[in-house]
Amino acid sequence: MLARTDEPHCPKCKGKPLADQHELTENEIGNLSGHAAQQVRAKGGLAYECGICSAIYSYRHGFSTFICYG
Ligand SMILES: [Zn+2]
Repeated sequence: MLARTDEPHCPKCKGKPLADQHELTENEIGNLSGHAAQQVRAKGGLAYECGICSAIYSYRHGFSTFICYG
């Protein structure tokens, strides 16, 4: 099954329930490391935190990109 879905999904938790995917606020993005925040902004400014493994990832056009651990 392809990873593409219509919901943000953690790239580290494939096959697990998509519960607790939390969209980061601008403040929370600012609290990431400079490199991670830069990547989020480069990906269009939308970042999510996985409630299961705490990974930070960006989600855009149906695809998730791993950024870092929160
Ligand atoms: Zn996860």
